Amino acid sequence: MSVITRFAPSPTGYLHVGGARTALFSWLYARQQGGRFILRIEDTDRVRSSEAAVQAILDGMNWLGLDCDAEPIYQTDRFARYDEVITQLLADGLAYRCTCSPERLATLRTAQLAAGQKPRYDGHCRTRQVSAEQPHVVRFCQPQAGEVIFTDQVRGTIQVQNQELDDLIIRRTDGSPTYNLTVVVDDHDMGITHVIRGDDHINNTPRQIHLYQALGWEHPTFAHIPMILGEDGSRLSKRHGAVSILHYQDAGFLPEAMLNYLARLGWSHGDQEIFSREELIQYFNLDKVNTAPASFNLQKLQWLNQHYLKTADSARLADLIRPHLATLGIQTAADQKLHQVISAQRERANTLEELARISAFYYQDFTTYAAKTAKKAFKGNPVPMLQHIQERLASLDTWQQVTIHQTIADAVTALDVGFGKVALPLRVAVTGGMPSPALDLTLELIGRAATLRRIKQAITHLAD
Ligand code: GLU
Repeated sequence: MSVITRFAPSPTGYLHVGGARTALFSWLYARQQGGRFILRIEDTDRVRSSEAAVQAILDGMNWLGLDCDAEPIYQTDRFARYDEVITQLLADGLAYRCTCSPERLATLRTAQLAAGQKPRYDGHCRTRQVSAEQPHVVRFCQPQAGEVIFTDQVRGTIQVQNQELDDLIIRRTDGSPTYNLTVVVDDHDMGITHVIRGDDHINNTPRQIHLYQALGWEHPTFAHIPMILGEDGSRLSKRHGAVSILHYQDAGFLPEAMLNYLARLGWSHGDQEIFSREELIQYFNLDKVNTAPASFNLQKLQWLNQHYLKTADSARLADLIRPHLATLGIQTAADQKLHQVISAQRERANTLEELARISAFYYQDFTTYAAKTAKKAFKGNPVPMLQHIQERLASLDTWQQVTIHQTIADAVTALDVGFGKVALPLRVAVTGGMPSPALDLTLELIGRAATLRRIKQAITHLAD
């Protein structure tokens, strides 16, 4: 049997880190098994669902390269099918109409809690013949005795007593079907073989298995993956920084870094940390998914991103960094200079956003200096030295790394000082104190006019 997995988000907000990781595990498993991967938009909650959220899910998956093998399926297109199944269950006596008022349910709940019992629906309407004309919900007749046992691919054997479960609402008063019903009908109709989802759904699974049985369908294999916590051990939320996956794109993370990072959130393959997409597909399996919650660690994501920034194709990086430079007011073509700037700076940044920020000085003058670096570099009185080097650089015929190198060396000899005495103030004068590569290369890339202008500015700054 060929494997079919699905990602079934509710489009009620952005695609968050946890959702993206669920999508990734489902996608990886399908790819690993040579199966199919499907996206199902669970948009039955029309009030909370939005087009923008659907778009954010599609954009997030697209960014990560989680391609689907069919057009997305929308649950709102399938109401007739859910109705058909509910009608069938009613006809078979496996579901019933219920008119219990919220007040009755509240009283029941209070009494059960007072008696130290778990609150659950008492089956009051099970044997009442409620007519379809009255406003009602439809409840599923949960088996009252026995137990459900299933093998979760991550958690192992799970066993639940049926008396723990009550008669689940499968259709609301407004006629809309509920999650547990739609998920079963869809997973069945779509031929899903493996349901891989967050373990916040594990309590729904026994109920869903009963529905499968009532409908005479075989249930899929389940794999419930652990939740993602913040570093402080609490559930990942906005407090821990960005939760939306697209925020990481905006902040200049590379999709391959995010993919690699998400894969390691709850899954491992020996001690290996860096995985290409192909390796993930090759090695991924559900047995190596942890049962313990994973914790989100931004430093590790940054470390991975730095790794991929160092190794990514530079033409691609040039394309990716241009919007970040544009945000800083720098318009640049993907020219030779940008390629050189990227290769000079790429090891010094964790994100594209940072790479743009620490590279802005190649294009843009500045008026302030990084305080600590400047304090150290400008101590003593570097003004005479800056004037000296300014004259030498101004008279250079060709503005190239080798000629600049020679000029700095000549100045060091002529002034009879250590290299640092010249290099340090000069570097801060032209970069403002931003991280930069070899000084001669830095100057070449900044260009003659900007270099001379900035030395002059530093001299004026120091004279003040
Ligand atoms: N729509 C559900 C959610 O977003 C997922 C359902 C499932 O995977 O079974 O939590």
